[in-house]
Amino acid sequence: LLLNLREYHRPATIAEAVQLLHQGAGRTAALAGGTDLVGRSDASIEAVVDLRHLPLTDLTPDANGALRIGAMVTLQHIATAPTIQSLAGRILCRAAERAAPATIRAAATLGGTLASHKGGDEVPTVLLALGAVVCLETAAGPWELPVADFLNQREAVLEGALITAVRLPNLAGARGGFALVSRTPADRAIVCAAAVVTTDDSTVAIGGMTAHPRLLGDIARWEVLSDHRGSSEYRRWVAPVLVRRALNEASDRR
Ligand SMILES: Cc1cc2nc3c(=O)[nH]c(=O)nc-3n(C[C@H](O)[C@H](O)[C@H](O)COP(=O)(O)OP(=O)(O)OC[C@H]3O[C@@H](n4cnc5c(N)ncnc54)[C@H](O)[C@@H]3O)c2cc1C
Repeated sequence: LLLNLREYHRPATIAEAVQLLHQGAGRTAALAGGTDLVGRSDASIEAVVDLRHLPLTDLTPDANGALRIGAMVTLQHIATAPTIQSLAGRILCRAAERAAPATIRAAATLGGTLASHKGGDEVPTVLLALGAVVCLETAAGPWELPVADFLNQREAVLEGALITAVRLPNLAGARGGFALVSRTPADRAIVCAAAVVTTDDSTVAIGGMTAHPRLLGDIARWEVLSDHRGSSEYRRWVAPVLVRRALNEASDRR
């Protein structure tokens, strides 16, 4: 629990929230659904900035067919929203549905999921395959980063910054596939793979192999995780199987 918590802020504007996070960098945390933060044993956190009154729940396609998903949109909303259900084989809906039980999904948000992700998490892996961009607000103004760069430098990026949204490109015509392996149906994924195939391109992302999800590369050169969920040998063995399943689904070759 946050035993050193002394201040609670509930700003009404994004600018005010960013100012509070910037001024309190190192001791102030954004509070979204609270499903990760509140149970954390973190003595360094002395203040929280509650995001619930901020206008961060948009789920709107723009004129070019790109979709902006606000940082405070819950995993449950992502799992069920018709605008997301229609994208790339529902892989983002399936990832959100798989990420946590319904009680947690009702509170956990997209921003919180990206900010607190573990290496094998399904939603960041799918966002990487979809070519998402993370939208942030900082004291110096708005900032956008491809999700791959965000995942790579998350801690430095989030120093005093607020995730405001995730932007998906126009995915009309894209097909998707998603596959994972876990110890039980409810446990976190050991390894997961997401594939997005268009008429002239295909993108595959893998979670659970390294500290954060990565685009498919030369796995033999990666320093692969080994933990209580699975050894590095098992992960190396299962990753190509999951990649094949995700690609087969996306290419309709099952
Ligand atoms: C029992 C259980 C099982 C779970 N299993 C899985 C799983 O298998 N796969 C999976 O992917 N997830 C899983 N989760 C969900 C996940 O681990 C987090 O709990 C959840 O995604 C956090 O979202 P939140 O909105 O509650 O964030 P919070 O708990 O409010 O915040 C989490 C962190 O993100 C920061 N933060 C939040 N929002 C923002 C923002 N907009 N900008 C900047 N920083 C922000 C906070 O400061 C904090 O550091 C599970 C959770 C639980 C409780």
